[in-house]
Amino acid sequence: MNKLEWIEKELQSLKDAGLYNRIRTLSSPQGAWLIVDGKRVLNFCSNNYLGLANHPRILQAAKQAMDVYGLGPAAVRSIAGTMDLHVRLEERMAAFKGVEAAITFQSGFNANVAVIPALVGKEDAIFSDELNHASIIDGCRLSGARIIRYAHCDPDDLERTLKAERANYPKAMVITDGVFSMDGDVAPLDRIYEVVQKYDAILMVDDAHGEGVLGRGGRGIVDHFDLHGKVDIEVGTMSKAFGVVGGVAAGNPVVVEWLRQRGRPFLFSSAMTVPDVAACLAALDVLEESTELVDRLWENTRYFKAEMKAIGFDIGNSVTPITPVMLGEAPLAQEFSRELFEAGVFAMAIGFPTVPRSKARIRVMISASHSKEDLNRGLEAFSAVGKKLGVVH
Ligand SMILES: *Cc1c(COP(=O)(O)O)cnc(C)c1O
Repeated sequence: MNKLEWIEKELQSLKDAGLYNRIRTLSSPQGAWLIVDGKRVLNFCSNNYLGLANHPRILQAAKQAMDVYGLGPAAVRSIAGTMDLHVRLEERMAAFKGVEAAITFQSGFNANVAVIPALVGKEDAIFSDELNHASIIDGCRLSGARIIRYAHCDPDDLERTLKAERANYPKAMVITDGVFSMDGDVAPLDRIYEVVQKYDAILMVDDAHGEGVLGRGGRGIVDHFDLHGKVDIEVGTMSKAFGVVGGVAAGNPVVVEWLRQRGRPFLFSSAMTVPDVAACLAALDVLEESTELVDRLWENTRYFKAEMKAIGFDIGNSVTPITPVMLGEAPLAQEFSRELFEAGVFAMAIGFPTVPRSKARIRVMISASHSKEDLNRGLEAFSAVGKKLGVVH
């Protein structure tokens, strides 16, 4: 008996179900157009909302910083010390988000895994939106706290669960994604805040898809709802709109100070590298100087969505640049994606377990880097493939 045989069986069943991830290989920078598996295609996949992943000014900042600081942090910050560059990024992130303090991590995933177990433990409870991101779920599990799910984006259901369960636990935490990455809807954070107020719970929002997108000049969901100082901790990422990589937790300075003492990915994993940090600082410069890119992102979003609806596609309930094209079963979504690729458009199918079974889709990510002609090219391809596969008429 081969002890790994079960894996081969599982892999085959993923392939049979149309759920196997075939990862495309890129040989170009991120942008509106990519070279994917040797073919030039229009990019509808990435979270590069503002086109910053290959922005000349940001590249320049990363290169210059390496001349001064070198490349790697060489150990965790609590042991080898921390570069003033990292401290500056934390100060600038806090200022950008309009809060008192921030701490950075290697990724948004790590930020969630750091923050949640530092704030609640096995005696406590977490009230979590049922569609929260996988990294929130993993952070919750690592904490050992009881996880109580409430109905997606439903403050009334949150209140019902808090009323029923809150008194049984010494501490409670309420956690929601800001923008939900698969559906593009936005948590009603103002109403969630009101509910949380009544039940003495810590409020955390993960704004990974909101930074650079929502709020004034892309300041995120807390700014969007004007809740400055009211959300205890805001987790974020620099791997999406910022176009780099890295995670952040921003908000109450006491929480941030505690994370420097007890955030395990902070204490036991090295910091972001020098070019990452310098690039994030330059991304903040770009965002703070002008709203041009954020404005263009929204203009592109409105145009693309209106045209997709006119063609007859079901594009769900998104209110952000995330545009799910609902197709139902995973094999259809995969076939649709293959046909789009043939037509020169790179847009991946997303199926279970990333989204529920029978809610497979193509997720189009609109970016400020798309021109009107790019969007029209994409719309033509969607229309042609949709007709061919009988999705639209
Ligand atoms: C993408 C995402 C993350 C992970 O961010 P990385 O920086 O890529 O690790 C965390 N939370 C949410 C809600 C996300 O969408």
